[in-house]
Amino acid sequence: MVKKTYLKLDSQVQYIKGIGPKRSLYFKKIGVEIINDLLFLVPRRYIDYSDIFKIKNLQINNETTVIGKIQLVELQKIKNRVNLTKILLTDNSGSINIKWFNRPDLKKKFKVGDWLLISGKVSFFYDRQFVNPLYEIISEEEIMEKKHGSIIPVYPLTEGLSLWDIKRAIKISLDACLDEIRETLPQSITKKHNLMSLNEAVYNLHFPTKIEKAIAARRRLVYDEFFFFELILAKRKMKFMNETGIPLKENGRLTEKFVRLLPFQLTKGQTEVIKSIVNNMEQFRPMNRLLQGDVGSGKTIVALYAMLVSVENGYQSVLMAPTEILAEQHFIVLSEILKKLNVESLLLTSSIKGDERQTTIQKIHSGEAQIIFGTHALIEEEIMFKNLGLAVVDEQHRFGVMQRAALVNKGINPDFLVLSATPIPRTIALTLYGDLDISMLKEKPPSRGEVITKIVNEKKKGTTFEFVRQEVSKGRQVFVICPIIEKSETLDLKSVNEVYQEITSAFPECSVGVIHGRLKTAERMSIMNEFRCGNLSILVATTVIEVGVDIPNASVMLIEHPERFGLAQLHQLRGRIGRGAQKSYCFLFLNRYVPPETFERISFFEKNNDGFALAQKDIKLRGPGEILGKKQHGLPDIKIGDLEADKDLLFLARDDAFELVKKDPEISSSEYYVIRRKLNKLAKKAQLLRIG
Ligand code: ADP
Ligand code: MG
Repeated sequence: MVKKTYLKLDSQVQYIKGIGPKRSLYFKKIGVEIINDLLFLVPRRYIDYSDIFKIKNLQINNETTVIGKIQLVELQKIKNRVNLTKILLTDNSGSINIKWFNRPDLKKKFKVGDWLLISGKVSFFYDRQFVNPLYEIISEEEIMEKKHGSIIPVYPLTEGLSLWDIKRAIKISLDACLDEIRETLPQSITKKHNLMSLNEAVYNLHFPTKIEKAIAARRRLVYDEFFFFELILAKRKMKFMNETGIPLKENGRLTEKFVRLLPFQLTKGQTEVIKSIVNNMEQFRPMNRLLQGDVGSGKTIVALYAMLVSVENGYQSVLMAPTEILAEQHFIVLSEILKKLNVESLLLTSSIKGDERQTTIQKIHSGEAQIIFGTHALIEEEIMFKNLGLAVVDEQHRFGVMQRAALVNKGINPDFLVLSATPIPRTIALTLYGDLDISMLKEKPPSRGEVITKIVNEKKKGTTFEFVRQEVSKGRQVFVICPIIEKSETLDLKSVNEVYQEITSAFPECSVGVIHGRLKTAERMSIMNEFRCGNLSILVATTVIEVGVDIPNASVMLIEHPERFGLAQLHQLRGRIGRGAQKSYCFLFLNRYVPPETFERISFFEKNNDGFALAQKDIKLRGPGEILGKKQHGLPDIKIGDLEADKDLLFLARDDAFELVKKDPEISSSEYYVIRRKLNKLAKKAQLLRIG
């Protein structure tokens, strides 16, 4: 065959014969823009045709796969709010009923005569059946294909593309470009872990002759992904280790009084974490530390302690928060204590303008301001510090690497502390934040009330409102959360104002406030203050209060449209209550049909209060990138690997990467040429090496 040289790895997929500009848009939806993306498109799973069962032979409780033709599609209403999509599937050996509950959408998807692949567990109800199995509509061609190879990859599907389209495009791309793929790992590594070469892996990903080959192919690609991720971390860490910072030694002038002024005792966990931070700050090498602890575990006080150590040494400290409300809260609450210590503190956000801004900037520059709280406004070019000793980033997942780096660069190798409420397993954290030291706050402060969560059908809202009324009459305060500010044409969701109206008429005896991101700062600060000092009993809010807000007397939360929120976000929201000694309640109002995945997510949230379990589930549902940081600029994506399931590979890759950088910091040995080539490519893509 004559090689079609017109396609290159970086050609747009629209140039593949039969695709064209219109279909290439569908490819874009599954993240495929160029040929290279297509070749690295990992199948969701594989169907082993030698394992397909004849319907006749299905046994109850078998976990299995069958293929058949649809004979009948029906949608039945069984009870109020429950409906059933039913199909009859036949192959040449027999037929079986397949049922899905509450999936009315499927009725439109299935057509009599279509081929369907069904995978699930056989159960019994008058006859053998599948209930809520996995399904895949497949084409005639795919059925034919089983004659050629017995292992068929199943790719992520999207509207407008059949599996067949994807497979054909991959076949053409492989023929044209497989040779163009360059090895990225030296033999010393591939031999050590018995990994396929990259070419072999890419080929076997799509055309495995045995399932084992497909698994080995994926393993190679996952290792690759982890290895380069870790390699960049290792290089960053190495660079950091060689820097000289400012040794800041605690002398107790401020910290001792600070601890005495606190209305509570530090927990054992807080004391231990503070100790390791203080030890770290004393060193010449700058501190680079992550403090993890679930929402409400008391990270702020730990950070403030460290900030005071820096001030004791005559240096400034800064704390950057992701929202203005949070920065304002830190300032309002903490400046009280700081005043008593005669420490000058200031707030800088982008809402602070004009003369006030100029004075603030001047005080930061002159060093008159010793502790500075603020938002992204702090990293603007204009802002200069006199002598920054410690930089703290609160809710680090809301910032990108670049923004964190920009804050650190306001000083000359200051100590650096990032706070995170995403409690991921320690080993994984160590690996993902391989360039940071890690402290964990495992327990919450004592005497915290329990938090009860309940999904409530909108129709039963009245009963919940009565309950809330009782709580308010006991002096408790209430958050009401709603996902959007204004009514939108495309989304049928309640706006903040609608919810506000509803709440004021349901609770005429209560003072109700409303807060969202479009209010002016002064107004927002005053509303938060009114709520904080108890003049408002109910606060209707958007997610502006999602992170960090701390009002211990607020013990009830009502969430409208919980289906709009992800797990992490729900957990952060719920973290606003349960901060006092009293029992707290979180009610989720559901008022519509939601897809089963969504319902599963909300129910999981209802049943779990442990940030750890929720984070793990969230990582499974959404992938690590989303959770660990919105904009992880500077680190390659982890797209294929699964941090939980591929943990062992992750640790191998980490050890290899760190060992390599230790042995050869510049990665200059000729054996590592292939690694350098890939690093350069990554660097070009993300300008990686400028940060670190
Ligand atoms: P987060 O870790 O979510 O940032 P915060 O630092 O906002 O949590 O602390 C949550 C609440 O717990 C605050 O009201 C804080 O004053 C309180 N708190 C912190 N440490 C203790 C402690 N040792 N004992 C009692 N309450 C504490
Ligand atoms: Mg916090």
